[in-house]
Amino acid sequence: MRRGFLNGGQTKQRCLADPGAPPDSAGATVKKSVSSGTGSTNSKPIHVPHDTQHDDNSFLVTTQPSQMQGTSLAEVPGGWTECILTGKAKRMLLATPGFPQPVPSPTHPNCYRIANSPGKGLGVFANRDIRTGDLIIAERPITIAPAFGSVSLQGNSNDPAVREAHQKMEGRLEAVFARVPPENQQAYLALANCHLHDGSGKLTGIQRTNGFEVKGLGEGPYSGVFKDISRINHSCSPNTIRHWDPASLSLRLRAVRDIAKDEEITVHYVTIITMAQERAKELAPYQIKCSCPACANSLVSDTNRVDILLKQYINGPEMDKAFKQWCPDRDAPDDRVLNVALRELALLDSEGLQLHPGYGTLLSLALRCYIALGDEDKVLEFGQRAGRSFMAEKDGDRSLLDNHSSLDLVKKNKLWGIRRRMSKQA
Ligand SMILES: [Zn+2]
Repeated sequence: MRRGFLNGGQTKQRCLADPGAPPDSAGATVKKSVSSGTGSTNSKPIHVPHDTQHDDNSFLVTTQPSQMQGTSLAEVPGGWTECILTGKAKRMLLATPGFPQPVPSPTHPNCYRIANSPGKGLGVFANRDIRTGDLIIAERPITIAPAFGSVSLQGNSNDPAVREAHQKMEGRLEAVFARVPPENQQAYLALANCHLHDGSGKLTGIQRTNGFEVKGLGEGPYSGVFKDISRINHSCSPNTIRHWDPASLSLRLRAVRDIAKDEEITVHYVTIITMAQERAKELAPYQIKCSCPACANSLVSDTNRVDILLKQYINGPEMDKAFKQWCPDRDAPDDRVLNVALRELALLDSEGLQLHPGYGTLLSLALRCYIALGDEDKVLEFGQRAGRSFMAEKDGDRSLLDNHSSLDLVKKNKLWGIRRRMSKQA
C-alpha cells in the first residue's frame, strides 16, 4: 500500500505550535506532524531561494497569486487565496515550476450544484452524468492556514496552553480574513463549525471543520478552506479522488467511478480501509454519523475491507509476475490470471473503493490478459476502463484514455493474440 494512502482526508489540526503570531512577524515553527490526504502533488525537489525579509519559520500573511489592490474576484478567473505561510513555505510556493498556472476548467462546465442532502445539511450533487476520470471541480482555497499536529486543539479547553493556542490562531485568522473579498467571506462564514464548545474562535472552528490538506508547502501541515469543495460530504465509499496542485494553487476532484445525474458527490475525510468502528471514531469530531452503504452494512463491509487490507499483492509486482508466467504457458488455463483480476476488481467495486491504487493496476492486468487472448470487444471495454481509472488516479488528461483504448495501437503489441496463436500451433 502506498505510503499515506487513504489517510486523513480533511486535515486535522493537532498541535499547540504557536499559531497566533501577528502577520509578518516572527511566529512559531509549524511542526512536522501531518496526516496525509489521498491525492497527489508534484513532489520534485524545488530550489527554494533564501531571502532575509522573512526567515524560514516566521509566519506572514500573503495573497497568492498576488493581486493589485482593488482587484475584484470577477476580474480573476479562479480567484486567489489569502494565506498564512511561513517564509519558507511562501518561497517554496513561488519557486514551484509554472506557478501560478491557471486553474484548469472542469471536463463539463456547471456539472454540479449545492443542494440539501437529507440528514447532512448541504451537499454537492451531479447536474449530469459524469464519467470516471472526469475533472469535476478545480478550486483555489479561500484561505490557507497552518494545521497543527501532535497535540489536539480539541483537548481540554480549560488548559491555559490550549486556550492560548486557540486565541492566537483566531487572531491570525482574523488578520487574514480581513483581506478576503466580501463574497468569499460570506461563503466561509456559511460553512459548518463543529468546534462551538471547545474554545475555538469562530474562524478557527470553521477552518478546522472544513479544511482539506494542502501539500507542496514544505514541512507544513497546511489546510485550505474552499467555497464549494468544503461543501462535499464524506463517504467511506467515495466517488471522487482529490489532487492538490501547487502550480495552480488548486484542489482538483476527479470521479473514480461513473456518477449518475443527481447522485451526491462524495469525498473521504478519514482513513477508509479500516473497520466501521474505527471510522466512526475518526468521524466523531466532525459530528458525522456516517450512513454510507459500508457503514450501514458493516458486518459484510468489515469482512471485505479486512480481505482488501490483507491483499497486498493487489498493488504489488506479484500480479505482473503471474501474468508473465501465464502468458507463454500453454498448459495454463486461459482464464487463470484474468479470473484473479476480475475477482479482486469485483471486491473493490462492491466496497466502492475504486480509488484504491490497485484498482487501475488490476484493470490494466485484465486488459493485458484480453490482449493476449486477442479479444477485441473486451480490449476496448477494459482499455476504456483502465484509461479512465488512470486519469482519476494520476490526475491525467485524455491522452491516458486514448493510449489505453486504441485498438490500432493494441494490435501492434507483440502480445496481441499470443495465446490464440499458441493454441493453433499446439
Ligand atoms: Zn461510512
